[in-house]
Amino acid sequence: MREILHIQGGQCGNQIGSKFWEVICDEHGIDPTGRYKGDGSSDLQLERINVYYNEASGGRYVPRAVLMDLEPGTMDSIRSGPFGQIFRPDNFVFGQSGAGNNWAKGHYTEGAELIDAVLDVVRKEAENCDCLQGFQVCHSLGGGTGSGMGTLLISKIREEYPDRMMLTFSVFPSPKVSDTVVEPYNATLSVHQLVENADECMVLDNEALYDICFRTLKLSTPSFGDLNHLISATMSGVTCCLRFPGQLNSDLRKLAVNLIPFPRLHFFMVGFAPLTSRGSQQYISLTVPELTQQMWDSKNMMCAADPRHGRYLTASAMFRGKMSTKEVDEQIINVQNKNSSYFVEWIPNNVKSSVCDIPPTGLKMSSTFIGNSTSIQEMFRRVSEQFTAMFRRKAFLHWYTGEGMDEMEFTEAESNMNDLVAEYQQYQDATAEDEGEYEEGLEESYEG
Ligand code: GDP
Repeated sequence: MREILHIQGGQCGNQIGSKFWEVICDEHGIDPTGRYKGDGSSDLQLERINVYYNEASGGRYVPRAVLMDLEPGTMDSIRSGPFGQIFRPDNFVFGQSGAGNNWAKGHYTEGAELIDAVLDVVRKEAENCDCLQGFQVCHSLGGGTGSGMGTLLISKIREEYPDRMMLTFSVFPSPKVSDTVVEPYNATLSVHQLVENADECMVLDNEALYDICFRTLKLSTPSFGDLNHLISATMSGVTCCLRFPGQLNSDLRKLAVNLIPFPRLHFFMVGFAPLTSRGSQQYISLTVPELTQQMWDSKNMMCAADPRHGRYLTASAMFRGKMSTKEVDEQIINVQNKNSSYFVEWIPNNVKSSVCDIPPTGLKMSSTFIGNSTSIQEMFRRVSEQFTAMFRRKAFLHWYTGEGMDEMEFTEAESNMNDLVAEYQQYQDATAEDEGEYEEGLEESYEG
């Protein structure tokens, strides 16, 4: 067995994390008490159940999940919510202080005090695994706990489990749904950590989620519940290949090997089709060509960046439901042929596709897209501009230095993110002939 250990932190992380569990419990036929109430496809539902669940005595399935926060509120409501009883009570780790949307409190002060308690629970879960493949962390980058303490935990885990994979579902902040002005600080400090200590990051950008709700789903005032509905559909889609039998991207390392040509460029755009609002699923039914067309559309991306402004280094297209594999293959080849300039030509066969028989609940078919696109730099540029505008005047810096942080860490985080943007740009501009030109250039300069 190749287990994954799930960790959710902070308000946003706990909210999207518990939605994820509700959705996958439903897909695997697990009821809120942890019992299997299958729908007849039990072989498929249970074959890889151990990836995300522990089997407890009495045949109960318990999420391999650790929940952490610096205040009790969100976790209290999870505990009293529909699936609250399914989690192991010992795995709720929380403080009372809060992080006040301050990354420094999460990373260096309040969070640092609670981190050993979290690591104890993580260790206990890891020891119970037969062969742990890695970790997945749900968090937001704009606040203090998920962001500061989340990245502290990620770095501690990397130290203790250097050969295990680290996947994150990271919610990027947007002024369109923002609580506070310092979110670009918290997000940039987090990206600085994620570049070094995470292996793969699924970018969930509140700006794009808001736009999808407003423009496509016609919700006039989208709530977090609406945004999180999109997130849970995406998380279910992304993890489908890890949870059900199949070949493509069947574990965290294979996913990484297919998608990451350069280690720092591990931030993925994810797309989903069909897009639905809460409660409206049953009316939508699409064909394979329609799903294919939509999943590549910038309007279906959970990140506010337009793939047509960049190029794909790699991509994976995952379909769910009963459909013809041949038709899927044809459609994907068709997309590549018609849009060849949007794929770097120096990675042959950089698009992979797969089909999983089991559709998500409420839909006949769906598709999930994971792309490593150089256009993701647009999102990083947006956050970076907001960061720099404030940092130039050192606005709000005292909240961070007051927790013991050095200004230098801000400068380093800023340049790390700018470097990341430059690296994406470099590979966007690179062509297959570059290497030759470069060598010629060298020769010339030597001759001169
Ligand atoms: P923390 O508890 O200190 O980690 O702080 P939060 O998780 O509240 O972080 C604030 C950031 O997360 C802001 O950018 C919010 O817009 C965003 N956020 C908070 N809750 C949710 C949620 O349920 N869904 C989504 N998509 N974003 C959220």
